[in-house]
Amino acid sequence: MSLIRLENISRRYQMGGETIHALREVSLDIQRGEYVAIMGPSGSGKSTLMNLIGCLDTPTAGRYELNGVSVSEMGDNQLAEIRNREIGFIFQTFNLLPRADALRNVELPLIYSGKPAAERRRIALEVLAGVGLADRVHHKPNEMSGGQRQRVAVARALANRPSLLLADEPTGNLDSKTGREILALFDELFQKGHTIIVVTHEEAVARNARRIIRILDGLIASDERMDGRESKVEGQKTGADGRAVPAPDGTAP
Ligand code: ADP
Ligand code: MG
Repeated sequence: MSLIRLENISRRYQMGGETIHALREVSLDIQRGEYVAIMGPSGSGKSTLMNLIGCLDTPTAGRYELNGVSVSEMGDNQLAEIRNREIGFIFQTFNLLPRADALRNVELPLIYSGKPAAERRRIALEVLAGVGLADRVHHKPNEMSGGQRQRVAVARALANRPSLLLADEPTGNLDSKTGREILALFDELFQKGHTIIVVTHEEAVARNARRIIRILDGLIASDERMDGRESKVEGQKTGADGRAVPAPDGTAP
């Protein structure tokens, strides 16, 4: 079962007399454990697609299944619940509470999901340690560097053990060295089995993912998989899932 299955998803906006086709019958499958970049020029439909995948919006037409559950017909309350349970969001601007320390910021989604205080604390400390911030749990956002703030945001996104991490330009506000540190952290999370979708307009960021989906004018223009270095070898055959397949004589690729 795919983690994400979009079938003929359209999203239209009515602006006065005009209809804007932000997404045009997009179909897409993303498996658990994939690391995907979504690229495309401004206005191509990236945010619309992210909002739909993130259950922040519902399509005008088509079907969306997340983790086997059909979410395309859900109401706002159900969407909010599934969002909190299934999705960890990471934003360009971190979106941390300025007056709350790192621990409190990470505990917040656990409060929404009704975890008791002791468990909240235990989980928050654990995920903060996991992103390398064990020694910064009582720092507030303005007492941390940009990279540390984004680490807090990543820890917050991980707190509810979501099925999916959705990041919108996660390195857009970071200098290139700090950006690379965050990408290294994403790679670590990917290696641990997390499913990650990153929206970016930077090729260098997209190249860290194992699959790049380019959208143009509300349509998928290309969908390219890279399973490590070996699949970049010229003439390399890949299977339907994008993984290298053995040669017919049985030798490993
Ligand atoms: P991107 O994130 O790739 O820049 P968007 O998904 O934000 O693109 O937008 C896709 C198209 O839909 C654009 O033409 C945009 O103007 C239009 N659009 C996005 N959101 C709305 C909205 N709430 N109302 C009307 N039009 C919108
Ligand atoms: Mg956008």
